[in-house]
Amino acid sequence: MMESDMGKECVICGRMVAQGRGFQLLHHFLCNDCERKIVHTDVADERYQYYVEKLAVLWRDLSMERMVP
Ligand SMILES: [Zn+2]
Repeated sequence: MMESDMGKECVICGRMVAQGRGFQLLHHFLCNDCERKIVHTDVADERYQYYVEKLAVLWRDLSMERMVP
């Protein structure tokens, strides 16, 4: 079977990931790998701050979307 669908671009790592290997947050997509990394990254880790900043954009979009009727 040919993989014709390029999938989605992960908002964190920027990779193209098959739709089934992550989840959609409105127009953003987060892959399973990044989700796992975020969950397992220690708060003291400098990468954690990077993830938090990326996710902050998601949460802002999510909250803005909710205000739209
Ligand atoms: Zn990712």
